[in-house]
Amino acid sequence: MVRWFSRKSQEDKPETVSENEAESQKTDMSSSKPPEVRPHKSPEGNSEKPSGFFAYMRSRLRKTRQAFIGKLDRIVLGKKEIDQDVLEELEEVLITSDLGVETTQRLIASLQERLHRNELTDSDRLLLHLKEEIRSFLKVEAPPLDVKGHKPFVIMAVGVNGVGKTTTLAKLAAHFQEAGLRVMLVAADTFRAAAIEQLMRWAERVGADLIKQSSGADPAAVVYDAMSAAQARGVDVVLIDTAGRLNTKVNLMEELKKVKRVITRHIASAPHEVLLILDATTGQNAISQTRLFQQELGVSGLVLTKLDGTAKGGIVVGVCHEFQLPVRFIGLGEGLDDLKEFNPEQFVEALF
Ligand code: GDP
Ligand code: MG
Repeated sequence: MVRWFSRKSQEDKPETVSENEAESQKTDMSSSKPPEVRPHKSPEGNSEKPSGFFAYMRSRLRKTRQAFIGKLDRIVLGKKEIDQDVLEELEEVLITSDLGVETTQRLIASLQERLHRNELTDSDRLLLHLKEEIRSFLKVEAPPLDVKGHKPFVIMAVGVNGVGKTTTLAKLAAHFQEAGLRVMLVAADTFRAAAIEQLMRWAERVGADLIKQSSGADPAAVVYDAMSAAQARGVDVVLIDTAGRLNTKVNLMEELKKVKRVITRHIASAPHEVLLILDATTGQNAISQTRLFQQELGVSGLVLTKLDGTAKGGIVVGVCHEFQLPVRFIGLGEGLDDLKEFNPEQFVEALF
């Protein structure tokens, strides 16, 4: 991966890569991910063009990058030296780029220290340090998502309505099936019939097992069935889709807690991952959602969806740093292979 990046700096001509070109290289690129998170059976993994993945990431993060870099350029343009005023302007840029107040203050404080140590001699140095700090903020200490660590490995997806839970689970199912694992999707969002049908279609499409009951069924009962079936069938990965909305928020949380308890009653170590799905286009709302789900349920990892087509991608940095939760995957489009493992190095490179 390190070599990949040093090569990238010579090869990458991001602004000249068309969306189509990036698209056509996408399939190869999905195998350029770090091996510790997902096992790969693909033998062609070594022949991929690394710059293709980068071009794709960059094109999908274009709106965020353009907004962020555009604002940064404006404040450093023509400035011979970096002073307190520049840092104040930078603070505003970071906040309006959805990094959040807390994260911004931490970033500015560390840049201020460097300013006092005379390390911010010019705008290049400022950007370099900013990039370095953001990268370190994204590197949260957390155990890797190693689905081979348990059998079955149980992932419970949670999040408010419309953030992309069902779609993300479908993408994950495809992802793991491709890696040769047996996947079971569980329709524990029983609130709407359409939600169950949606998951059913995805399960058929990706060839995963599906456990469902009729709409209105008790989600805990669905999960109870699923846990027994997963163990009996020798399933490797169980992906549980949950509701994002019931009658009130309090009920939703109680419902989700109950689902979680049922899982644990079956398999004491499970759920192995409570994955909070967040819609990046909602910016700061992602922060309050994370706070709520973290307090009520406990979250072990994050997925930020819809990073394509939003200028609010800075939220990835804010939410990751503020809650010290690892971002596991990012959603960069609606296609099955548009969910990518999150890599702080790649993300920061694509952002600047
Ligand atoms: P849920 O209510 O949380 O289950 O959300 P859904 O999975 O039904 O997704 C809501 C909408 O968001 C769907 O139209 C998805 O196609 C779309 N969506 C999900 N992830 C992404 C993404 O990464 N990029 C884009 N552009 N759309 C996405
Ligand atoms: Mg859904």
